[in-house]
Amino acid sequence: METHSKETKPASGTVAHFCRDWRVQISAWLLICLSLAGGWMLLRLRDPARASRPFRIGFQQSPPYQYVAANGTPAGPAVEIVAEAARRRHIPFEWILSPEGPEPNLKSGKVDLWPLLADLPERHKFLYISHPWLTNSFWLATLETSDISTPKDTVGRSVLHLNVSATNRLAQAYFPGARLVPQPTNIAAMEGLCSGKADAAMIGGSNADAAGLRDLPVCRGAHMKFYPLPNGIVNYGIGASFQRPDASRAADAIREEIGKMSRDGTVSAVYFRWFKDPSNDTSVIYYLTEAQQRNLYLLVGLCALTLLLVLFGWQTFRLRDARSAADRLNSNLKEASAELAAANLELKEASLTDPLTRLHNRRFFQVMIEAEVTQSLRQYSEPSQDNFEMRVNFPNRDIVFYIVDIDHFKNVNDIYGHPRGDVLLIEAAQRINAAMRKSDTLIRWGGEEFLVVSFPTERGKAETLAQRIMSSFSERSFNLGDSIHIHKTCSVGWAPFPWFVREPTALDYDEVLKLADRALYMAKESGRNCAVGLIPASVEAEYNPAPAEATNGRLSESDRVAVQSIHTAGPAVEVLN
Ligand code: GH3
Ligand code: MG
Ligand code: MG
Repeated sequence: METHSKETKPASGTVAHFCRDWRVQISAWLLICLSLAGGWMLLRLRDPARASRPFRIGFQQSPPYQYVAANGTPAGPAVEIVAEAARRRHIPFEWILSPEGPEPNLKSGKVDLWPLLADLPERHKFLYISHPWLTNSFWLATLETSDISTPKDTVGRSVLHLNVSATNRLAQAYFPGARLVPQPTNIAAMEGLCSGKADAAMIGGSNADAAGLRDLPVCRGAHMKFYPLPNGIVNYGIGASFQRPDASRAADAIREEIGKMSRDGTVSAVYFRWFKDPSNDTSVIYYLTEAQQRNLYLLVGLCALTLLLVLFGWQTFRLRDARSAADRLNSNLKEASAELAAANLELKEASLTDPLTRLHNRRFFQVMIEAEVTQSLRQYSEPSQDNFEMRVNFPNRDIVFYIVDIDHFKNVNDIYGHPRGDVLLIEAAQRINAAMRKSDTLIRWGGEEFLVVSFPTERGKAETLAQRIMSSFSERSFNLGDSIHIHKTCSVGWAPFPWFVREPTALDYDEVLKLADRALYMAKESGRNCAVGLIPASVEAEYNPAPAEATNGRLSESDRVAVQSIHTAGPAVEVLN
């Protein structure tokens, strides 16, 4: 059962455990596979090769790239290149004769594609134009003898230009004040200029155009001036109609394929067939657009890198912030725990201290006595306790309990009041404390009773401390304040632990305490201001038989031991009781 629950539930809530779960991993892989499959399907569906009907590609008489053959079929290098690219891509197509030119036909949707279309900014509003696959440069050409050098000089003068929509637009833009004279071909425009029919001509200088200009009889020996028109380099891509949504994808696919054909020499072969020269503009434009794309990727990469750096910096900043916050928290915690420890200590001490006399209380006695009893018993448990050497090695192994009780203390309260009684109690505690040795412990045992635990000591010398305590009371009066001085005595009862030295564990320390209490009672009975010590009557552990009426356990063991008392009189003093 337990094994099962471990398998079905992550061991902990961490991400690492979660990722290790095989079901999560399989789901993640499934999701990735499904996304890839979905993406592939989408690409397939959007492939122009799968178009339901052929793309209609328009053409017109537009030398040197497009011609209309006598039977109305298309010809020319642009036609051959685009047709080959479409075939290679399995894009279905048909040629549509469109003498009106690309703009009206693409706009209306009469044709879907146009093989070669100048990429003029204004056309983007109503047409799609792919990236270019060809480029052309336009020049203002004049005879050397002419005074025309720049487009401005053509105002009021005649300018010849090729009559197709793109060149018509360019001519209008470059020579607004000139008399524009459209020509059927670029060659015708050049011939017209050479023969002096016009003042200037706008000439296209692409490889295809240049091929036609190379050996014009009318231009032989003519000295020409050429002025490169500003922004006169025009790119040409595949035009696509907005009317057919997949036309732009077809245009892009054909353009991409022309790029490959440029690299594998197919375009050069077409050019050679038409112009007896394999060089063409396609490779240049491809390298140019590729370089542009690379620049774009570089820029995007740079942006991503910058973003990453910024993120990294931010994270580092946050980490540093978090670390210093953690440090602060840690030191606060340390301070708090130190304060707590101190408070705990204070509380512990308070719980073990008598608030009036600042002496230890009974609770403290319970805490400390076990250790002293153990130590004493351990020393007694050493073998051959009668051995002289052992006695020398362990001369002090007894604990002597002294119970000190102030004589007639109640009278002080009655005569001088409770607060002055307190003052006497405090003073009495100090005097007993001064009489003891440092190793002894003083405890406030009860109201006006004190317990002295003397350890390590010897029972033989126990009387001495009792005498010193009594003397500390008698030797001088107690000052209760307000010039009240009174003499006070005390009575002491003492007993040693262990009780039986030959059998140290026979009587517990609390039984010995009872014996000390009995001794105190005896001291009171014998007139006070004296000490009574009780020691065993015999060294052997002997118990008196229990009286018949005490067999139910009301008498403790200490009641049945045979005792011997040692009486010590206190110093003579005149006491007002
Ligand atoms: P004895 O010689 O037999 O010991 O007589 P005693 O008067 O000393 O003993 P008793 O037990 O009759 O009275 C003890 C008195 O101690 C009674 C109590 O009011 C007083 N007492 C106990 N604790 C305190 C205390 O903290 N302060 C003061 N001022 N008096 C206390
Ligand atoms: Mg008392
Ligand atoms: Mg008393």
